Amino acid sequence: MHHKSALLNVIDVEATCWNGQPPPGSLNEIIEIGLTVVDVSARRRVSRHRILVRPARSTVSDFCTELTGLTQAEADQGVTFAEACRMLADEYEAGVRPWASWGEYDRRQFARQCQADGVPYPFGYPTEHTHTNAKAVFTDAHGLRKRPGMAYALRIAGLPLEGRHHRGEDDAWNIAALVLDLAAREAWPTTVPLS
Ligand code: AMP
Ligand code: MG
Repeated sequence: MHHKSALLNVIDVEATCWNGQPPPGSLNEIIEIGLTVVDVSARRRVSRHRILVRPARSTVSDFCTELTGLTQAEADQGVTFAEACRMLADEYEAGVRPWASWGEYDRRQFARQCQADGVPYPFGYPTEHTHTNAKAVFTDAHGLRKRPGMAYALRIAGLPLEGRHHRGEDDAWNIAALVLDLAAREAWPTTVPLS
Protein backbone atom coordinates (compact mmCIF):
# COMPACT_ATOMS: atom_id res chain seq x y z
CA MET A 1 0.00 0.00 0.00
CA HIS A 2 1.60 3.28 -1.07
CA HIS A 3 -0.25 6.50 -0.60
CA LYS A 4 0.78 10.02 0.31
CA SER A 5 0.41 10.95 3.91
CA ALA A 6 0.38 14.26 5.74
CA LEU A 7 1.31 12.49 8.95
CA LEU A 8 4.69 12.35 10.66
CA ASN A 9 5.99 9.59 12.93
CA VAL A 10 7.94 10.96 15.89
CA ILE A 11 10.02 8.12 17.32
CA ASP A 12 12.13 7.65 20.43
CA VAL A 13 13.77 4.33 21.25
CA GLU A 14 15.15 2.97 24.49
CA ALA A 15 17.84 0.32 24.36
CA THR A 16 19.64 -2.03 26.73
CA CYS A 17 22.49 -0.14 28.35
CA TRP A 18 25.08 -0.30 31.08
CA ASN A 19 27.16 2.09 33.07
CA GLY A 20 29.93 1.96 30.46
CA GLN A 21 30.49 -0.58 27.71
CA PRO A 22 28.22 -3.62 27.16
CA PRO A 23 29.44 -6.76 28.96
CA PRO A 24 31.30 -9.25 26.71
CA GLY A 25 28.89 -10.90 24.24
CA SER A 26 26.15 -8.29 24.74
CA LEU A 27 25.22 -5.35 22.56
CA ASN A 28 22.82 -2.42 22.76
CA GLU A 29 19.40 -3.57 21.57
CA ILE A 30 16.12 -1.70 21.28
CA ILE A 31 13.65 -2.56 24.05
CA GLU A 32 11.05 0.16 23.56
CA ILE A 33 9.89 2.08 20.51
CA GLY A 34 7.87 5.14 21.52
CA LEU A 35 5.88 6.62 18.65
CA THR A 36 3.65 9.68 18.46
CA VAL A 37 1.81 10.31 15.21
CA VAL A 38 1.70 14.02 14.40
CA ASP A 39 -0.45 15.88 11.90
CA VAL A 40 1.89 18.77 11.17
CA SER A 41 -0.60 20.79 9.09
CA ALA A 42 -3.38 20.41 11.65
CA ARG A 43 -0.78 21.16 14.35
CA ARG A 44 -1.75 18.32 16.62
CA ARG A 45 -0.59 15.07 18.12
CA VAL A 46 -2.90 12.41 16.72
CA SER A 47 -2.02 9.32 18.76
CA ARG A 48 0.66 7.78 20.97
CA HIS A 49 1.99 4.26 20.87
CA ARG A 50 4.53 1.98 22.46
CA ILE A 51 6.10 -1.17 21.06
CA LEU A 52 7.96 -3.25 23.63
CA VAL A 53 10.80 -5.29 22.14
CA ARG A 54 12.37 -8.40 23.62
CA PRO A 55 16.17 -8.22 23.46
CA ALA A 56 17.79 -11.33 21.95
CA ARG A 57 21.45 -10.81 22.75
CA SER A 58 21.41 -8.69 25.90
CA THR A 59 19.41 -8.21 29.08
CA VAL A 60 17.99 -5.21 30.90
CA SER A 61 20.52 -4.24 33.58
CA ASP A 62 19.59 -2.55 36.87
CA PHE A 63 21.31 0.54 35.47
CA CYS A 64 19.00 0.42 32.43
CA THR A 65 15.92 -0.07 34.60
CA GLU A 66 16.88 2.96 36.65
CA LEU A 67 17.30 5.05 33.48
CA THR A 68 14.28 3.91 31.47
CA GLY A 69 11.92 2.44 34.07
CA LEU A 70 11.84 -0.76 31.98
CA THR A 71 12.49 -4.14 33.57
CA GLN A 72 13.64 -7.42 32.04
CA ALA A 73 10.25 -8.91 32.98
CA GLU A 74 8.48 -6.24 30.91
CA ALA A 75 10.88 -6.60 28.00
CA ASP A 76 10.24 -10.36 28.08
CA GLN A 77 6.62 -9.56 27.14
CA GLY A 78 7.79 -7.67 24.06
CA VAL A 79 7.82 -8.72 20.42
CA THR A 80 11.00 -9.59 18.51
CA PHE A 81 12.87 -6.77 16.79
CA ALA A 82 11.88 -8.22 13.41
CA GLU A 83 8.21 -8.18 14.41
CA ALA A 84 8.54 -4.60 15.73
CA CYS A 85 9.98 -3.45 12.39
CA ARG A 86 7.19 -5.25 10.54
CA MET A 87 4.64 -3.44 12.76
CA LEU A 88 6.26 -0.08 12.03
CA ALA A 89 5.95 -0.75 8.31
CA ASP A 90 2.45 -2.29 8.34
CA GLU A 91 0.67 -0.32 11.05
CA TYR A 92 2.51 3.01 10.99
CA GLU A 93 3.48 3.25 7.31
CA ALA A 94 7.12 3.70 8.27
CA GLY A 95 8.23 3.01 4.70
CA VAL A 96 6.38 5.99 3.23
CA ARG A 97 5.65 8.34 6.11
CA PRO A 98 8.34 10.85 7.07
CA TRP A 99 9.71 10.46 10.58
CA ALA A 100 11.62 12.48 13.12
CA SER A 101 13.67 11.90 16.24
CA TRP A 102 15.75 13.94 18.68
CA GLY A 103 19.28 13.67 17.27
CA GLU A 104 20.66 10.91 15.09
CA TYR A 105 20.84 8.20 17.78
CA ASP A 106 17.47 6.57 17.06
CA ARG A 107 18.04 6.41 13.29
CA ARG A 108 21.55 5.01 13.73
CA GLN A 109 20.37 2.41 16.25
CA PHE A 110 17.75 1.16 13.77
CA ALA A 111 20.33 1.05 10.98
CA ARG A 112 22.84 -0.77 13.19
CA GLN A 113 20.39 -3.29 14.57
CA CYS A 114 18.70 -4.04 11.24
CA GLN A 115 22.15 -4.75 9.83
CA ALA A 116 23.20 -6.89 12.81
CA ASP A 117 19.93 -8.88 12.97
CA GLY A 118 19.35 -9.16 9.21
CA VAL A 119 16.01 -7.37 9.52
CA PRO A 120 14.68 -5.13 6.70
CA TYR A 121 15.08 -1.43 7.57
CA PRO A 122 11.47 -0.26 8.09
CA PHE A 123 11.93 3.36 7.06
CA GLY A 124 12.08 4.93 3.63
CA TYR A 125 15.15 5.95 1.69
CA PRO A 126 16.99 8.13 1.13
CA THR A 127 17.34 8.94 4.81
CA GLU A 128 17.86 12.68 4.26
CA HIS A 129 14.43 12.87 2.59
CA THR A 130 12.54 10.74 5.09
CA HIS A 131 14.16 11.44 8.46
CA THR A 132 14.38 14.80 10.20
CA ASN A 133 16.69 15.45 13.12
CA ALA A 134 14.37 17.58 15.27
CA LYS A 135 17.26 18.55 17.55
CA ALA A 136 19.16 20.11 14.63
CA VAL A 137 16.05 21.99 13.45
CA PHE A 138 15.41 23.26 16.99
CA THR A 139 19.03 24.39 17.39
CA ASP A 140 18.89 26.42 14.16
CA ALA A 141 15.44 27.86 14.82
CA HIS A 142 16.47 29.10 18.26
CA GLY A 143 19.92 30.24 17.14
CA LEU A 144 21.63 28.11 19.78
CA ARG A 145 25.36 27.42 19.76
CA LYS A 146 25.00 23.98 21.35
CA ARG A 147 22.47 21.25 20.58
CA PRO A 148 20.23 20.85 23.64
CA GLY A 149 18.91 17.66 25.18
CA MET A 150 15.16 17.14 25.02
CA ALA A 151 14.49 18.25 28.60
CA TYR A 152 16.42 21.51 28.17
CA ALA A 153 14.73 22.16 24.80
CA LEU A 154 11.31 21.85 26.44
CA ARG A 155 12.36 24.46 29.02
CA ILE A 156 13.63 26.80 26.29
CA ALA A 157 10.33 26.41 24.41
CA GLY A 158 8.30 26.88 27.61
CA LEU A 159 6.69 23.46 27.24
CA PRO A 160 6.04 20.97 30.06
CA LEU A 161 7.89 17.67 30.27
CA GLU A 162 4.92 15.31 30.36
CA GLY A 163 5.46 11.89 31.90
CA ARG A 164 8.87 10.37 32.56
CA HIS A 165 12.05 11.38 30.74
CA HIS A 166 13.86 8.34 29.18
CA ARG A 167 10.61 6.46 28.76
CA GLY A 168 10.32 6.08 24.99
CA GLU A 169 6.56 6.62 24.80
CA ASP A 170 6.77 9.83 26.86
CA ASP A 171 9.92 11.06 25.09
CA ALA A 172 8.23 10.68 21.69
CA TRP A 173 5.16 12.53 22.98
CA ASN A 174 7.30 15.41 24.28
CA ILE A 175 9.49 15.56 21.16
CA ALA A 176 6.25 15.75 19.14
CA ALA A 177 5.30 18.87 21.12
CA LEU A 178 8.66 20.39 20.20
CA VAL A 179 8.06 19.54 16.53
CA LEU A 180 4.67 21.27 16.68
CA ASP A 181 6.25 24.29 18.38
CA LEU A 182 8.72 24.49 15.49
CA ALA A 183 5.89 24.12 12.98
CA ALA A 184 4.05 27.00 14.67
CA ARG A 185 7.18 29.13 14.14
CA GLU A 186 7.21 28.05 10.47
CA ALA A 187 10.58 26.44 11.21
CA TRP A 188 9.66 22.80 10.55
CA PRO A 189 10.93 21.72 7.10
CA THR A 190 8.34 20.36 4.71
CA THR A 191 9.23 16.82 3.81
CA VAL A 192 8.43 15.48 0.40
CA PRO A 193 6.15 12.47 0.80
CA LEU A 194 7.30 9.38 -1.04
CA SER A 195 4.93 7.87 -3.54
P1 AMP B 1 16.92 8.53 25.71
O1 AMP B 1 16.06 8.61 24.49
O2 AMP B 1 17.60 9.80 26.07
O3 AMP B 1 16.07 8.03 26.83
O4 AMP B 1 18.07 7.48 25.45
C1 AMP B 1 17.93 6.40 24.59
C2 AMP B 1 18.85 5.29 25.00
O5 AMP B 1 20.20 5.76 25.04
C3 AMP B 1 18.62 4.70 26.39
O6 AMP B 1 17.59 3.73 26.39
C4 AMP B 1 19.98 4.09 26.67
O7 AMP B 1 20.15 2.87 26.00
C5 AMP B 1 20.93 5.11 26.08
N1 AMP B 1 21.30 6.08 27.09
C6 AMP B 1 20.75 7.30 27.30
N2 AMP B 1 21.34 7.92 28.34
C7 AMP B 1 22.26 7.07 28.82
C8 AMP B 1 23.21 7.10 29.88
N3 AMP B 1 23.33 8.17 30.69
N4 AMP B 1 24.01 6.02 30.08
C9 AMP B 1 23.93 4.95 29.27
N5 AMP B 1 23.06 4.84 28.25
C10 AMP B 1 22.25 5.89 28.01
MG1 MG C 1 14.09 8.18 25.21
